[in-house]
Amino acid sequence: MNELWQSLVAGRSDFVLFGLSSTMVVTVSFLIGALVSWRIEINAGLKKHKLQPRKSNSAGEWLHCIRHIFFHKLTSEIPLTIGAFPVFAALGIAKDAPLPGVLSIVVTLVISFVIEDAWHYFAHRALHGKWAYKTIHHVHHKYVTPFGPAANYAHPLETLFTGFGTLLAVIIVRPHLFTLLIWVAVRQWQAISVHIGYHLPWRPSRFIPFLGGARFHDRHHERFTCNYAPTFVWWDRLLGTADEKGFTRG
Ligand SMILES: [Zn+2]
Ligand SMILES: [Zn+2]
Repeated sequence: MNELWQSLVAGRSDFVLFGLSSTMVVTVSFLIGALVSWRIEINAGLKKHKLQPRKSNSAGEWLHCIRHIFFHKLTSEIPLTIGAFPVFAALGIAKDAPLPGVLSIVVTLVISFVIEDAWHYFAHRALHGKWAYKTIHHVHHKYVTPFGPAANYAHPLETLFTGFGTLLAVIIVRPHLFTLLIWVAVRQWQAISVHIGYHLPWRPSRFIPFLGGARFHDRHHERFTCNYAPTFVWWDRLLGTADEKGFTRG
């Protein structure tokens, strides 16, 4: 594995390693997440797990959402991610073998999620201020009944503002490039998973305490003024914005 990795990174520029590779990983992760969401949506056996069973989004709505996201990716997210490569290079992110061990990767990911969640909670609450909501955040709230890819349906300024949390975790933790690429992929899937609109039996929140999951964020889309954090429940509980009424354990 170490030899394979070294052959992949040897001689490559920072632009390719930090700019292009992270952009490609985020985009491919989005596509995989959108496909899995669609498979769940068309599986009749899973309908009983739908969080808002009386409302659903048409295929046309899915297409509109995906088209919007790709336009948004091409005009803001991809140029920004590619443009951020000097930041990664300046941080001195390690890129050569040996690769970090599994425990090191898991610990790095957990710390990154804690940092990102804190940034995202306060940024998201700020976006619910009168001016910011009317100007920026209302775009993300188009879907009262969210579905996987709707995670990325947002105003470009929101992507920049809340998305900074993903970068902030990298700035603080300074992971190896291999872990960084896993982080951006897992963060993308996590965002899609909380918008999926289903309370699935195999959800991670069933096994990991303090994870909000789809049910927690779905309620934010339904009621607007609660459950601002994307990953953990502690900020909302601590600051009195959690709405978990009717949630049974697990
Ligand atoms: Zn959302
Ligand atoms: Zn919101």
